[in-house]
Amino acid sequence: MNKVISFEHAQAQRSDEAIEDKVRSLIQQMTLAEKIGQMRQVDATCDRISDSLAEDVRTGSIGSVINQTDPELCNELQRIATQESRLGIPLLIARDVIHGFGTIMPIPLGQAATWNPDLVQQAASIAAQEAASCGVNWTFSPMIDISRDARWGRIAESLGEDPYLTATLGVAMTRGYQGDDLAQADSIAACAKHFVGYGASESGRDYNTTNIPTNELRNVYLPPFKAVLDAGAQSIMASFSDIDGVPASANGFLMRDILRDEWRFDGIAISDWNSISQLAVHGLTADDRESALQAVRAGLDIEMAGDAYDDHLKDLVMEGKVSIELVETMVANILRTKVRLGLFEDPFTNTNSFPSIGSPQALDVAKSAAIESVVMLKNDNNALPLAIESLQSIAVIGPMADAPYEQLGTWIFDADTSLSVTPLQAIKQVAPSDVTVHFARAMASTRSKSTELFSEAVAATKASDVALVFLGEESILSGEAHSRADIGLPGNQTDLVKALKETGKPVVAVILAGRPLTLGDVIEHCDAVFFAWHLGTMAGPAIADLLFGAASPSGKLPVSFPKMVGQIPIYYNHKNSGRPPSPDTVIHIDEIEVGTPQTSLGMTAFHLDAGYEPQFPFGFGLSYTEFKYDDLRLSKEIIGPDDTLTVSVQISNVGKNAGSEVAQLYIRDLVGSVTRPVRELKRFSKFRLEAGETRTIEFPLSVEDLCFWRRDGSYGFEPGRFSLWVGGSSMGDLKAEFAVTEQ
Ligand code: BGC
Repeated sequence: MNKVISFEHAQAQRSDEAIEDKVRSLIQQMTLAEKIGQMRQVDATCDRISDSLAEDVRTGSIGSVINQTDPELCNELQRIATQESRLGIPLLIARDVIHGFGTIMPIPLGQAATWNPDLVQQAASIAAQEAASCGVNWTFSPMIDISRDARWGRIAESLGEDPYLTATLGVAMTRGYQGDDLAQADSIAACAKHFVGYGASESGRDYNTTNIPTNELRNVYLPPFKAVLDAGAQSIMASFSDIDGVPASANGFLMRDILRDEWRFDGIAISDWNSISQLAVHGLTADDRESALQAVRAGLDIEMAGDAYDDHLKDLVMEGKVSIELVETMVANILRTKVRLGLFEDPFTNTNSFPSIGSPQALDVAKSAAIESVVMLKNDNNALPLAIESLQSIAVIGPMADAPYEQLGTWIFDADTSLSVTPLQAIKQVAPSDVTVHFARAMASTRSKSTELFSEAVAATKASDVALVFLGEESILSGEAHSRADIGLPGNQTDLVKALKETGKPVVAVILAGRPLTLGDVIEHCDAVFFAWHLGTMAGPAIADLLFGAASPSGKLPVSFPKMVGQIPIYYNHKNSGRPPSPDTVIHIDEIEVGTPQTSLGMTAFHLDAGYEPQFPFGFGLSYTEFKYDDLRLSKEIIGPDDTLTVSVQISNVGKNAGSEVAQLYIRDLVGSVTRPVRELKRFSKFRLEAGETRTIEFPLSVEDLCFWRRDGSYGFEPGRFSLWVGGSSMGDLKAEFAVTEQ
């Protein structure tokens, strides 16, 4: 049952013309009911295939299923589809493979902190291989919603706040899933989601309304989608949310004008789960029939887990409300993807031809990705790495220290939890036999408000040379439908840290969470802090390597960390405003005398109680060594439309350890027809330097990198002056300027 056709044959089958011929010939033979069947995706969660599911597949009334990952059942469904249905059209079998399948990689936001597209691609390719080995041929990933609001639980699934980083890593994930050839047995189709603006849900409350001005939509939210589709992603999913009053599932401007007419996308546009029927709940339509009509007209090829198309599309076509040509165009989008996936040649899965789930290679990639995801936020007096040879005892404390399930994060339907190695397990493995490890969980969960178990943790700390305290959020506190209004550490975790600090012993916090947290006090009370996200299967070994110096932290924040929740949205690439804040304009609430007369003169855009800066900026992350940026040079001071500007910078490892650095290049367009961000990431490069080593990094930039959507609605660059910075975070101050001319 494995794919047995020759390479040349497969290539010929999939050349564009051959695909179109095949699609056309199928459509010519299809009845209206079969066409509508292709547009229907049903939930196939089951332990055995029911008679009605089998019958629906046999009669061609279902074109794809979601949530079946038993390879035998998938093969059986494919057998019925290809051997018992009239036209033998194979099924798309979809699953949310978001950050790994059986082997769990760090959550996407953690992977984004690696700033390492090659590693992100490898992680996706392992996920694809494991998913494909179970019969899945389509994943609903990458999620490339720009996320500037840490209250939103789905920030965990995102690649952060920046369009360029999100686009680059979204493309890497797509390549990882789809491989070089979609028809290979271990390639699965990718899906860019959620189109578009879902991350802007008001107040970070999931499914909430969004309001994004067109210029912002074009310049911030759409570019990652364009990049991922240009990289060949086969599908795109409509967002649950409405945008400017029109839910994405009925939004013809997004789904048709932009996606099809502008971008010429020829793959599948799918609804989100039952989101077509929800058009009526939004109050956009009166009933399912009208919802089906609006969704079809907007261009949603497949309805996921809903009945609106199945119940109403036939009548809508018969009554002339929906043209058969429109239906056929949509069916063609679906069939095209099926052909590209090689499903007509062989839809079956031979589990034996794949490495087993959790193979050594998969675990290796999961560990590397976990190591590179961790961001070190603080390391006072080189508290880390711990010199294991000089330690006699270690206290391992906290609700996340030994929580094999919780360290995996959101969206892990297919995780093999037995593969999880926790920090406690890994520390015990790594520690020499004469080092005592005292474990005290201290809290039943991260949300526990009881201090009952603190005394045990304090005693363990007193008996040890150092306390390693594992804090954060259980996996269920982030992800879909799990937004929070207070993003501090839940429960009594901050008090736990204070109690440990009072012992006078060094305290190192490792925080495993699905979102940026407001960490205020905790940072102050710890000697060192790792922000470790939900790191996946290999969280333990990765953290142990970092704690004991077998690896140096190299993660950088893909999202700004606010000091207080009231600062949200806070992101580095904001606009300047007419009254930009600076340290000397900020007044703190406590400095204002009672009775002070009202004045705004000299005042700027800041909060009286939080200033204007985040606690940790985008791009920030420490390592066990120090990097110095020097000698920033531009190959030209003035460039025209056809020129390339080469930016070079010298980076030296001036510390005592080897380490990896992410050099980041930002620009600012000083004058624009619309206001431009104060900084925009345009390039980055991650590399390793030995202690004492210096390297010159070159970044090419062209006018294309400076283009944006302008005031008149057109896309292009605008001549004028630009500032440019290169550094190890979005706050880097090594600066140059250049100009761009019209000709
Ligand atoms: C989510 C999607 C997901 C789909 C299928 C929805 O609730 O919004 O991201 O792909 O479910 O599980």
